[in-house]
Amino acid sequence: ALSTAELQALDSAHFLHPFTDHKGLAAKGARVITHADDIYVWDSEGKKILDAMSGLWCVNAGYGRKELADVAHAQMMKLPFYNSFFQTTNEPAVRLAARLAELAPAVDGRRFQHVFFSSSGSESNDTNVRMARRYWDLMGQPQRKVIISRHNAYHGSTMAGASLGGMSAMHAQGDLPIPNITHIQQPYYYELAEPGESQDAFGLRAARWLEDKILEIGPEKVAAFIAEPVQGAGGVIIPPATYWPEIQRIVDKYGILLISDEVICAFGRLGHWFAYEKFGYKPDLVTFAKAVTSGYIPLGGVLVGDRVAQVLIDKGGEFNHGYTYSGHPVACAVALANLDIMERENLPGRVRDDVGPYLAEVFEQFKSHPLVGDAETCGFVAGLVLVQDKATRKAFPEDWAVGMMCRAHCFGNGLVMRAVGDRMIIAPPLTMTRAQIDEMAVLIKKALDLTLQELQS
Ligand code: PLP
Repeated sequence: ALSTAELQALDSAHFLHPFTDHKGLAAKGARVITHADDIYVWDSEGKKILDAMSGLWCVNAGYGRKELADVAHAQMMKLPFYNSFFQTTNEPAVRLAARLAELAPAVDGRRFQHVFFSSSGSESNDTNVRMARRYWDLMGQPQRKVIISRHNAYHGSTMAGASLGGMSAMHAQGDLPIPNITHIQQPYYYELAEPGESQDAFGLRAARWLEDKILEIGPEKVAAFIAEPVQGAGGVIIPPATYWPEIQRIVDKYGILLISDEVICAFGRLGHWFAYEKFGYKPDLVTFAKAVTSGYIPLGGVLVGDRVAQVLIDKGGEFNHGYTYSGHPVACAVALANLDIMERENLPGRVRDDVGPYLAEVFEQFKSHPLVGDAETCGFVAGLVLVQDKATRKAFPEDWAVGMMCRAHCFGNGLVMRAVGDRMIIAPPLTMTRAQIDEMAVLIKKALDLTLQELQS
C-alpha cells in the first residue's frame, strides 16, 4: 500500500482535479479518502468525517450498501455492456426507463413516459439543449433557439452545461456562454429583496424577470427556460412560494418549454421523488443524475414529457444524439436496486414528514448565532448565511473569505460542510437519523464559534 505522503505526491504530479487551484493543493496535499459507511467517510490518517454533503449531493441512500455492489457484480458477469444505438436494448435499461416513467408524477395530465439516458448531469443538460431546439425545428419554428437560465445556476461543465450555468467564474474561462444562452437574476430573497418587501411579493417580482427577458429577446425566438427547483451549488437558494406558479404562468403564456434541472433535487432530496411535484409546476423536460444511483456508479438522463416526446417520435425520424453509455446495463441495474432501497425505506417520505422538518427546527436555532444572518432549509438541503451585521444584512468583505474559514473549522471538527461565498450549505444522506442531525448540529455550532473567535482575534 502507498503511504499518505506517497499518494499525495503522485496526486500532485499527475491528477488534475476539477475546480481546484493546484498550487494550493500541492502545498497542502490532497486529503485521501479511503472508505465510507452510513453517513461517514474516513481519511488515510484514520480521521472519521461526517459527510453532510452526501459526497457531491449524490449519496442519498448513504454509504456501505452492499446490495448495490452485489447487483453491479451480478450484472457485470451477465452483460457488462452493450450499446443502445442500433435497435438493441437491454433489460436493466428498459426496466429503469419504465420505473422512472412510473415514479414521475403527472401534473394536470402531463406525463413523462420516455427517458433519454446519459452518464451525468452535464451530458443530460447538453441533451436538453439539443432536444429543445430539435423540438422547435420539428414544430416549424427553427428560430426558437434561445435558452434562458439564471445567474448563479449550476448546470454542468460541458460547453452547453457551463453556458447554461450562471457562474461568472466559469464564463470567464473558455469564451462562454455559447450563443443563444442568456440569464436572468436568481430568486435570492435575502440578498435581492427591497427593504420591507415580503417573500411573496419578491417571488412574483423575481419570476417576472423571466417575462421581461422573453419580451426583450422576442417570444418567437425563445426555446426554453431552465432552472433548478432550488439552486444547489449557487448556495441553496430556496425560492419564495409565489415564484414557481408565476414562472409556470409565464412559460404557458409564451408557449416556451420548461426544463427542470433536478440533478440535486430529485430522488427524495426535497421529500418527493421529483421536486417539480413539491412546487407544483409542469416541466417538459427533467434532468436527473447523481442520486438515481446514489452516486455508486455514473448515470444521468432526461425525463421527456409527452409534449416533446410525441413530436420527436412522430415527426422526428432519427435524433442524431447519444452517448456510448446511454442505457448502460450495469448503471441501470444499480439504479433499480437503489430505487428499491429508497422505496423500501421510504426515504422521500421520511425527509418530507420526519427528519426534514426536524432538520428545519435545528437550523432555525442557528439564527440566534451572532454570525448567522439567515438559516433556510427545504427538505434535506439547508444553508446558513454568515454576515458581518445581522441588522443591516451587511456581508463580510469578500477577501476575508469567512465561508472558507468556517469550512476549515468544520473539517477540523470532522464535518464536511460546503462554503459558497459566505453561505454554508449541507445536503446530507437521506438516511440521517435525528441523533445524527443533533451530532451534526454540535459540530456546526462549534465551527461557527471558532470562526467568530478567529474573526475577533
Ligand atoms: N445540474 C445540476 C443542478 C448540478 O448540481 C450538477 C452537478 O452538481 C450538474 C447539473 C452537473 O452534473 P454532473 O457533474 O454529473 O455533470
